[in-house]
Amino acid sequence: MAGHTSANGTGKAASSSRSPLQAEAASSEAARLLPQVLQLVQDFIASGEKPETYVAPWGSIPDFRKAVTLDLPDSVSTDAAGMPDETALMDAIKLVFDHSVNPWTGRFLDKLYAATTPVGIAADLVLSAVNANAHVMSASPVLSLAEERCVEGLCEVFGFTEKKPDGLTMPGGSAANTLAVQTALANVFPPFRTQGVLGVVQYLADKGKAPRPLLFTSSQCHYSLDKAAISAGLGLDSVVKVACDKTGRMCPKALEEALEQAVQQRTGTPFLINATSGTTVLGSFDPLPELAAVARKHGCWLHIDASWGGPIVFSHRAEYAGLMKGSQLADSITINPHKLLNVPLQCSFLLVRDADTLSANSLDAGYLFHSKDRRENAAMKTMGCGRRGDALKFWLYWVRYGKQGFGHHVDAGLQLATQLVEYIRSKPELELGPLAHPLFLQICFRPKQPSSADDGAHTLDPEQVRVRSKGTQFVYQELKSRRMFAVDFAPLPNDIGDYIRLVVHPRTRMDDLRTLVDQVAEIGHAYWKQA
Ligand SMILES: *Cc1c(COP(=O)(O)O)cnc(C)c1O
Repeated sequence: MAGHTSANGTGKAASSSRSPLQAEAASSEAARLLPQVLQLVQDFIASGEKPETYVAPWGSIPDFRKAVTLDLPDSVSTDAAGMPDETALMDAIKLVFDHSVNPWTGRFLDKLYAATTPVGIAADLVLSAVNANAHVMSASPVLSLAEERCVEGLCEVFGFTEKKPDGLTMPGGSAANTLAVQTALANVFPPFRTQGVLGVVQYLADKGKAPRPLLFTSSQCHYSLDKAAISAGLGLDSVVKVACDKTGRMCPKALEEALEQAVQQRTGTPFLINATSGTTVLGSFDPLPELAAVARKHGCWLHIDASWGGPIVFSHRAEYAGLMKGSQLADSITINPHKLLNVPLQCSFLLVRDADTLSANSLDAGYLFHSKDRRENAAMKTMGCGRRGDALKFWLYWVRYGKQGFGHHVDAGLQLATQLVEYIRSKPELELGPLAHPLFLQICFRPKQPSSADDGAHTLDPEQVRVRSKGTQFVYQELKSRRMFAVDFAPLPNDIGDYIRLVVHPRTRMDDLRTLVDQVAEIGHAYWKQA
């Protein structure tokens, strides 16, 4: 390739004392390499925008494994000047784009995240270029300040204003929920930090209380709460699942009863209530003021897992913004800008109402933490040391779109979801599943068994449930092999069987949604004819 100059200026092969990672000046390598890569990025996005592009380039994982192998070369070829041959690298990067799910199609409706934006790609590039560790501010001044500002901004929208709030980025909602459980344990039970769970057991026994700490969460919560209980040393038996109503919201009365029963029967001592704002399957919001009242009465930490639904606070529609009413009463909140707000993976925050509660996680590592100002030592608040400056990506979004823009974005999604539900209702071949109330961004539906009366799914016997779930899974498999849409299926609460679950992302096109619904109706119709 033309234009190579090696960093030692001789143009000769790099000597063995020089790392191959600096065979030439980084600036000249960047000038040559990055525009080529950016071109591939642009091609990938442009390809996604074409209506004929498949969401996934293969129909199944076995097909994918057959098509793709990744080399781990022992040695690599060099050109005449001793520079590594770039063909293999560029081929490897092309391979990634050729075989990846393409979220830029807008037809990836499978998960709670979607394509990022060009701003997100730019932000990621900037982060890699500065490659600063957000553990201490002296290493990552702007990234750490961006984290501080985003935490302040989020604390304000959630109403954490009474005490001095705090927070930090975490590598995902699960990690944030896990840190929340640990932080709660350490704050509710003083011996936890030094003596661990064993100390807590003794502490509770000394107080005449049942020695097992209990965490209460709804039957519709994310599985990370169970994982948090495992990793905190409590175990799954310490998680109590509380019943939900038909729309997937935790019933405060059932919570109260479960708490009282645990105390009366001495199965354990409640210490944490988790409320979910935006459940994974139905998109429901637990009633925060009611749950906060129960938490206060029983001396429990209140955590809100708003990983998915948190950005609803930005909505300009009062009935939706009101879904987070009461958030200021929580002790901690998780929110994932990498889901609904399309910030690149990963970008997640844990916020706490009272900054002091995070001190339970800190240790004085003299070789790292030299400042007395805790705002300069973000890593003190968590278990991780090396930290990517994920907040920078969210801050750049905030600069680009503003709080108002976040609201318009969320509202655009809600508008689409409403239209889509109307469209599904208009199709006699389809059966709509239970919906969150008010409607959020997930919609569950399935092909209707033609012979069945439209009697509401809750009256189904197990055999009917099995038969209808099979219909759903057939449609799912057929959609997968067609590769034009990616959707998921999930079993719904109250044993009504499997439904297609699609996630309406605010940038989805209504035309695509209609086409998808038409296809589900058509595939289902064909299925029931031969079944
Ligand atoms: C996605 C999700 C999580 C987990 O977040 P990750 O970033 O995937 O770890 C937790 N809770 C809820 C409600 C979620 O939707």
